[in-house]
This record gives sequence, C-alpha cells and structure tokens, in this order.
Amino acid sequence: MRRKLVAGNWKMNLLRDEAQALVAEILGMLADEESRSVHVVLIPPYIHIAGLVQQTSGDKRIAIGAQNCSDKMSGAFTGEVSAAMLKSVGAGYVIVGHSERRAYFQETNQQLADKVNHSLSEKLIPIFCFGEVMEERKANNQEAIVKRQLEEGLFHLSADEIKNCVLAYEPVWAIGTGLTASPAQAQEMHHFVRSLISTKYSGALANEISILYGGSVTDQNAKELFALPDVDGGLIGGASLKSRNFVNIVKCLPY
Ligand code: PEP
Repeated sequence: MRRKLVAGNWKMNLLRDEAQALVAEILGMLADEESRSVHVVLIPPYIHIAGLVQQTSGDKRIAIGAQNCSDKMSGAFTGEVSAAMLKSVGAGYVIVGHSERRAYFQETNQQLADKVNHSLSEKLIPIFCFGEVMEERKANNQEAIVKRQLEEGLFHLSADEIKNCVLAYEPVWAIGTGLTASPAQAQEMHHFVRSLISTKYSGALANEISILYGGSVTDQNAKELFALPDVDGGLIGGASLKSRNFVNIVKCLPY
C-alpha cells in the first residue's frame, strides 16, 4: 500500500527557539492521533535538523528531512552539505529539485539526478519535486515538461531504487501564490505520472509509489485534494509554519 504522508517545507524560516516551539506545538496537537498510520515529515533549514531529530525521537510518526543536499559526495565545496552528513544527524528525507532551487540556484536535471543517487546511497528518501510554470500550462505543455523532468532527474533509477523515492507534483504557479491546482488538474497530472512510471517500470510499481501534491495546500482544500485516487498527501510550504493549520492538514489524510 502507498504511504500517505504530509511533509512541511519550512524554507528559510524560523530561528532555533521558534523551530522548537513549533515542533512542541505539533507534537502536542498530534497526541490524540496515536492510532493513525499517518506519516509526517518536518523539513527545517539544515541547521535545525539535529535538534529536531532529538526533539521528535520516540515519535515514530514523525521524520525530519532536509530541503536540499549537495550533488557532490564530499570535498572542497564550501557551503555545501552532503547526503551522508544529513544521514549522520538523523535526517530521513531530503527534498530534491524544489522549484525554488531549480529557478534561483539554476539546478539542472543532471545535478538533481546526482542528488537523488547520493540520497539513495545514504538510505535517505528523496522527495523529488517537479512541475510546470504558468506559461507552460497555458500552452498546455505541462505533461511534456513533467515527463522531461522525470526522465532526466529520476528515471535513470532501477525499479528497486525508484520505489524508495517519494514524488511531489508542485505546479510552480501554485507555490506560495494562493492559487491551487483544481482537484481535476491535480488528479490528471498524478494519473499521468503514474502512467509514465507504469510504462517505464511496471503497473505494480506505479501503484506502490507515493505522489504528493504541493502548491498552496491549506486546511480548507487539503481534504478534497488528499481524497483524490492518485494523490497520497501533500508537500506544504506556508501552511506548515502554523501548528494548527499544519496539523489540520495532516488530519485530512484519509486512513
Ligand atoms: C512548497 O514550497 O513546496 C509549497 C508547496 O509552498 P506553498 O504551500 O506555500 O505553496
């Protein structure tokens, strides 16, 4: 069965005390959710990862992730953080290919493929992001764009490797804009991605891989989005910085 999960990408927000306070609130609000088989991934800036791993240790429903990792393994790359370093402080997940990294840091599909490879060798689960910009959707080019991102960044993996990845469809026009993909648009793309996986690998594998939706998910729209047959949860930006909003979103996961 596909794992249902909600991941909160904090981006470059929150000082240490604020991060700890947010996590304490989330833990408190999730206390009554004990029996649920949901999985929550909190994705703070690098510097908070080790502290939050400690703070959440003992709660099996929560993992800590990173927003990025280097495409190199180690060496003279000042300012970079490797997948192995993330693993060594207890991270379980790493976002690869967020549209802000692609756009502001010119990350290429080849670099993303390398990041995915290093993450998997360290047994970190990559959350591989992909999605079209508004012009591409307006030109009805979204499927070709997504197909290329997946082929160049992810589909070099073997079946055994790709099943250890989580995918996240994040239409760039929906990120941080308050514009959400309609349920029909989200379902259509998720279904398309599953059909690509099915053609490249197998139908059984396509059915096993979690595909999250991201882009202005709130506690108002999450229920409808998470109920779609090919949507397995969400990657949440802005709404993950408010404990009540985030936990309300987590509670929208079907189980
Ligand atoms: C994101 O940055 O991955 C994201 C989905 O942001 P937001 O929820 O704020 O649109």
